[in-house]
Amino acid sequence: MPKIAVIGSGFAGLSAASCLAKAGFDVTVFEKNPTPGGRARQLKAEGFTFDMGPSFYWMPDVFDKYFALFGRKVSDYYQLERLDPSYRICFGVNDFMDVPAGVQKLSELFEQLEPGSSKQLRAFLEEGKVKYDIGINDLVYKPGLSFIEFADMNIIRNTFKLHIFSSISRYVRKFFKHPRIIELLEFPVLFLGATPQDTPALYSLMNYADIALGTWYPKGGMYKVVAGMVKLAEELGVKFLYNAEVTALNVEGDKIRSVGVGNENLPFDHIIAAADYHHVEQNLLPPAARQYSEGYWDQRVMAPSSLLFYLGLDTRLKNMAYHTLFFDEDFGQHAQDIYKQPRWPKAPQFYTSCTSIADPTTAPAGCESLVILIPVAPGLKDDPETREKYFDMVMARLEKNTGQAIRKHIVFRKSYAHNDFTADYHAYRGNAYGLANTLKQTANFRPSIVNKKVHNLFFAGQLTVPGPGVPPAIISGQVVAKVVSERVLKL
Ligand SMILES: Cc1cc2nc3c(=O)[nH]c(=O)nc-3n(C[C@H](O)[C@H](O)[C@H](O)COP(=O)(O)OP(=O)(O)OC[C@H]3O[C@@H](n4cnc5c(N)ncnc54)[C@H](O)[C@@H]3O)c2cc1C
Repeated sequence: MPKIAVIGSGFAGLSAASCLAKAGFDVTVFEKNPTPGGRARQLKAEGFTFDMGPSFYWMPDVFDKYFALFGRKVSDYYQLERLDPSYRICFGVNDFMDVPAGVQKLSELFEQLEPGSSKQLRAFLEEGKVKYDIGINDLVYKPGLSFIEFADMNIIRNTFKLHIFSSISRYVRKFFKHPRIIELLEFPVLFLGATPQDTPALYSLMNYADIALGTWYPKGGMYKVVAGMVKLAEELGVKFLYNAEVTALNVEGDKIRSVGVGNENLPFDHIIAAADYHHVEQNLLPPAARQYSEGYWDQRVMAPSSLLFYLGLDTRLKNMAYHTLFFDEDFGQHAQDIYKQPRWPKAPQFYTSCTSIADPTTAPAGCESLVILIPVAPGLKDDPETREKYFDMVMARLEKNTGQAIRKHIVFRKSYAHNDFTADYHAYRGNAYGLANTLKQTANFRPSIVNKKVHNLFFAGQLTVPGPGVPPAIISGQVVAKVVSERVLKL
């Protein structure tokens, strides 16, 4: 059995490891941190449990398909519940809007805001379904190695329906006028790496995922998905080594012969780098083996970073849902501060997730575990004073908007931002969400999943195809495993 080393145990590494083990490889995963999951790790402290990264479980069909590859079901590993409301939006003091689960209930809400908009919503979702079916069932599984991959009749026939060349901002406004509806539909693209004006309308497929397919909750938190994927990998024979940072890829000729870990150089036949692409190229490979220069990376548009606060509270919260989006400040200005003139935002929108509202197992009785996330530009100077300033700002708004004292109930607190992303994951410029999905950084225009100079080195994860997010990271692992299997085993 050819031996494969997978660097990193995030969703992409886990997915690649299981797919390759199933294909017949002898797979070992090296993870620098003490626990798996990468950006989706879990933090447990003083009785509180926090998901450190992702909290929106969207596109359940991607997870179903993944487990089905191995003859398993999602429910063999974790239990899902659909959230209703999907999330709550706070527009100001005691001004909340619950976004209900299901198209029918959402149509009623839209109709109250803008007469006639329920009909528009149906048309919007019909077009969104075409984009989702082609985008998520087809385009994202392409390895991005040749443009011939896109010479597919289904894609060609539907090219105009994908709206690749119009912006999501303009597209949404063709259907709707009410500012709250527009804001609701523009918010999912905030994390893709460009303003809605610069994001292709193709990504309204995320609205279809949100509205038609729903927001789900894995009981116990998102980390249950990581734990389930690790269990599956172990059942397939994958070996995991934690606290095992790869520090060198030892190249001889056009091949990596061994992987440097601690004081050892361990021989492997093939390497899947599922750690941040920039780190692997610039820090682990000798210069002659790199495909991209530091100048190339300087010119990439990175997706946002985030300033996060993990808070344990000795009280229950009111007026908040599992997911609450605070849209009480101007989205346009915040997007400018992330993408156009990267700087610490003047008045950011922010987001909270409070798992203990839906799942009391994540906090002690009568308590709440609350995560606050402020999306910010990557590459900013991150220091304790800045974190404190934003903590004061969001706490004041949180208390005012929801009408309750929160600060005095904090019994556990941890902040997390650029410096932590870099120290924990070797994240380039402290990014949280990888490489942005702008038009010029989509599909074949992303850093390649193969290294053409070193023939046994392949890449997976949110800096290569298809892009950021948990479902794309899982798909990325599947895509790279297929390419490796085809090349090595000639399947
Ligand atoms: C705060 C936050 C909120 C998010 N919210 C959502 C959400 O709600 N929904 C959603 O779908 N997505 C969300 N995302 C995005 C999603 O979490 C990521 O896209 C996805 O988890 C990335 O997975 P990955 O495997 O590509 O990378 P990672 O998770 O970063 O995995 C890479 C792994 O490589 C390891 N590593 C790095 N260098 C080395 C080395 N030299 N040796 C060994 N190991 C190494 C790292 O420790 C890490 O474990 C969020 C991300 C963040 C940060």
